[in-house]
Amino acid sequence: MVECASAPGDRWYEELAQLRAENARLRAELGAGGARFRDLVEAMPHLVWTCDAEGSCDYLGPQWGAYTGRSDPSQLGLGWLEQVHTQDRERVHAEWLRCSKARIPLDVDFRIKRADGTYRWFKTRAVPSFDARGNLQRWLGTNTDIEDLRVTEAELRALRDTLEQTVATRTEELGILSERLVRATRAARVGIWDWDVASNTSIWDDNMYQLYGLDRATSPSAGEIWFGALHPEDKPRIVDAVELALRSGKQLDARFRIVIPTGPIRHMHVIASVERDAEGRPLRMLGVNWDVTTEELALQQLRETEQRWNFALQGTGDGVWDWNLETDEAFLSERSRELLGHPRTGVITRADRARAVHPDDFERVRAGMQAHLRGETQCFSEEYRVRRPEGDFVWVHGLGRVMARDSRGTPLRMVGTYKDITERRLAQAALEQRETLLRQFIAHTPAAIAVLDRDMRYMQASQRWLTDYKLVGQDIIGKSHYEVFPDLPERWRDVHQRVLSGGVDSCDDDPFVRSDGSVEWLQWEARPWHEADGSIGGVIFFTQVITTRKQLELKLAERNEQLSRSNAELEQFAYAASHDLQEPLRAVTGCTQLLAHRYESALDADAGLLVRHIVDGAARMKTLIEGLLQLSRVNGRASRTATGATWAARQALLNLDASIVACNARVSLEPLPDVVADATQLVQLFQNLIGNAIKYQNGRTPEVSITSQPVAGGHQFSIRDNGIGIAHEYFERIFGVFQRLHTREEYPGTGIGLSICRKIVERHGGRIWLESAPGCGSTFHFTIMN
Ligand code: ADP
Repeated sequence: MVECASAPGDRWYEELAQLRAENARLRAELGAGGARFRDLVEAMPHLVWTCDAEGSCDYLGPQWGAYTGRSDPSQLGLGWLEQVHTQDRERVHAEWLRCSKARIPLDVDFRIKRADGTYRWFKTRAVPSFDARGNLQRWLGTNTDIEDLRVTEAELRALRDTLEQTVATRTEELGILSERLVRATRAARVGIWDWDVASNTSIWDDNMYQLYGLDRATSPSAGEIWFGALHPEDKPRIVDAVELALRSGKQLDARFRIVIPTGPIRHMHVIASVERDAEGRPLRMLGVNWDVTTEELALQQLRETEQRWNFALQGTGDGVWDWNLETDEAFLSERSRELLGHPRTGVITRADRARAVHPDDFERVRAGMQAHLRGETQCFSEEYRVRRPEGDFVWVHGLGRVMARDSRGTPLRMVGTYKDITERRLAQAALEQRETLLRQFIAHTPAAIAVLDRDMRYMQASQRWLTDYKLVGQDIIGKSHYEVFPDLPERWRDVHQRVLSGGVDSCDDDPFVRSDGSVEWLQWEARPWHEADGSIGGVIFFTQVITTRKQLELKLAERNEQLSRSNAELEQFAYAASHDLQEPLRAVTGCTQLLAHRYESALDADAGLLVRHIVDGAARMKTLIEGLLQLSRVNGRASRTATGATWAARQALLNLDASIVACNARVSLEPLPDVVADATQLVQLFQNLIGNAIKYQNGRTPEVSITSQPVAGGHQFSIRDNGIGIAHEYFERIFGVFQRLHTREEYPGTGIGLSICRKIVERHGGRIWLESAPGCGSTFHFTIMN
């Protein structure tokens, strides 16, 4: 072979020859030493081939024939291209050229027709080999069936597309949802937070900051805010609840108050759950917070309202009931159960309640309830007795109203109250009893009583009223007083008006001239009676027909008048008589004494005795007349002035001095008070009593004591002696004129002294009496009133 170094065509041939030689060498190598390699190549599942630098195939593995069904030599060279899908040929060719040019391995996928005419995808990989000069000499390639891979890939791609589509849709949805959530949480003022337990750091969303009235930019860490704002009273409870949630895995669900700088205390609701690691250790806590201030305040208001209601109900002591007519179950408040003695729990039916009603009240209560259930009354309202389990009865006022009816008007629910009115009913019964008693008292009292209202109409009158005013058999109740007594004088109408204005009027003897001319004398009193509110309700008359008594009184007064006239005349007569008698008596005494004196010697013994009798008699008569004069002088009212009783007693003792000395009497006088009295009469009073005390003795030395003591309205004086005493039956008699218990021979006296004493004492508004017994002395007491 001629070497032509410069001609390209020569070089190409040269190279071709070299390649062929190389090919032959390789074949030889293959043939000689590569039987094992061929076996290996042919055992491979891939289509193995070789071709030269231009793509002319010089070797096709047996797999090609098996796959394409074409093992004929026409497949070598460029014949194999027939099996490549027409749509892939150009692309394959272009890639081949690109790799050849770039001297890089070929990696291209294309479809190869199978023996059955179907195409399958193959991945073709070919590695270029170069000669010693670096020229591309040939390609060694394999075609790997990737149809299944392609199908799987396609399926996977389709799946991925679907997945991506879904993910995209979901992402979009999530985006929308997330945005809505943000908007919703913002609108609902729900704050979201995330607390990393391990690092103790928290992340808050904007809402959280807003809830706490803070600006995220200028705020301290979320954890600090949370803890710092917790209301001190709620802090321990919430801290416990958080710890419990961390420990137990339970959700945190709590309410608490926060104190924020921008306003009043706010109420928060928190719900949070804990995320844990595989060992169950808490990692983070995720939660939401929202403001429940309005709700809490409303709740608080509700609680307060409920409290107020409960308090009000407790205050009134009323029990509440709520009756479901559909189920016949009744809710009874604690007070209702307590009132009616029902057990604290358990259902109360209508029958239970009906059974407890007192038999006497049952029909009325039932009728009232039926009427209300039928809608005939605005509400059910009855007072009745209810038997408690212990057997006693309580009076209750049951009040109720149907609160709901169905479309046909059937009652569904009724609520009401029970009020314990036992006390009121008992008080009412007592009042009625008292009223009956009063009516009976008025009706049967032996006095004329009438009760009239403000219009002077009769409300009540006693039997005596009816008989006194001849009204028996007439029904005067409700009638006017002026209708019953048409002849009532005008002045009495004025009295009625005064009484109806609050005055009290009375008269002890009022003549009532009847229309027939007869006169009734009345003693009456008219006074107002008052209603419970204090206003005047009318008039009560108390009257007594005193016509008979009045007539007697008039007669008596007339008789008294006559008596005092004759008394005065008598006194006048007694005075005149005793006064006038003194003159002749003095003449008799004087003459007799003269007779006895001058003619004593001329008279015989008898005449002398007679003259002495005359002188004694005249002296006695003188004493008597003086006594009578004294008595008659104690007349009319005493002329009283302030007088020392001690002085009066001393004066009396002076007058009695001779007698006191004669009988050696001992008189004790304690200081006596001043009194308003007629001084002369007071001296006479002491003198008579002290004189008697000395006189009525039985040989003993008289001992007399004069004492006094104050009494209501005056003074009491006492003169005590140790004399003969007086028997009880004479205590009154001795104060009579001329009344004596002894003869002149035993004790001298006239029997006038004590009657003068009584007269003096009575003239001073006092009285005189004594204490005595025969042999035990006497004490005379008298009072002088101021
Ligand atoms: P006179 O003393 O003059 O008889 P009086 O009127 O003073 O009359 O007394 C009436 C009677 O009462 C007396 O007669 C006497 O019987 C009795 N009498 C009065 N004072 C006493 C006295 N102190 N002790 C006992 N009897 C007395």
